[in-house]
Amino acid sequence: MKKIHYLIAAALLMLASCAHKTSPTNIPHEPTTITWIEDKPTPTLQPHSLYPNVPDSLWTALGLPEGVPSSMSCFLLQTEGKKILLDAGLGAPFSRLFLKLKELGVTPDELELIYLTHLHPDHIGGLLKDNKVAFPRAEVYVNRVEAEAWLAMEGEKSQLAKNVLSAYQDHLHLFEAGDVLEGNIKTIAAYGHTPGHTVFQKDSILVIADLIHGAALQMVHPEYCPAYDMDAEAATESRLRILKYARDNHLTMYGMHLPAPGFIESTMLEQPNNH
Ligand SMILES: [Zn+2]
Repeated sequence: MKKIHYLIAAALLMLASCAHKTSPTNIPHEPTTITWIEDKPTPTLQPHSLYPNVPDSLWTALGLPEGVPSSMSCFLLQTEGKKILLDAGLGAPFSRLFLKLKELGVTPDELELIYLTHLHPDHIGGLLKDNKVAFPRAEVYVNRVEAEAWLAMEGEKSQLAKNVLSAYQDHLHLFEAGDVLEGNIKTIAAYGHTPGHTVFQKDSILVIADLIHGAALQMVHPEYCPAYDMDAEAATESRLRILKYARDNHLTMYGMHLPAPGFIESTMLEQPNNH
């Protein structure tokens, strides 16, 4: 079993050199749009237990007695004539990714670009249908650090990531943090939530993925991590660094677990508490 993983890892390393990079240009383009795709139909309330270090008094002070409003989402970014799916939802029976894509006039057969922020199940489950690729023409991009980490991971939890990487291996591109992908999308390391968790920037759009998991808590207290953050110290550093970057550059942040409408203006961060 281990040997197979090493073989896949070797294949991925070879593919890494194929990662597509483009340079910024000044050619006029259609306006960029980003569409929130709420994969899970009903709004989600994250339980307090997801944030074990938060005292009850803070939940009360924040007016969050029942939990933290959130969602399970992905995005369709349209820019420079390209349609780019950013993450792919959970692929559960309730998932609405394909329905929403249809509403947007995008069929799974024609989608050509998928950029992944990280390899947790609620971001990649929609890439497989009956264990086969759901987007047969798509080129899939993932941070090399992230792909290698999940391939090296033991146990059941890493199986879906391995299945996805394997199923798309002929269309897989491993990028390095800092690379600029097709559509002039900048990749920025936001490690900690997962080993290679990456956020994407296009002009004033910053897709923060799972950097903020519970907005009503973490926008005010970014020092608190959900149990899902695999390396809490690194995740906190990333969160503080990128929130500052967003604020300094007046970016709009789009997150995969933000409640409706799926984005937050960085002006909301103008008055950082306790930092
Ligand atoms: Zn997630």
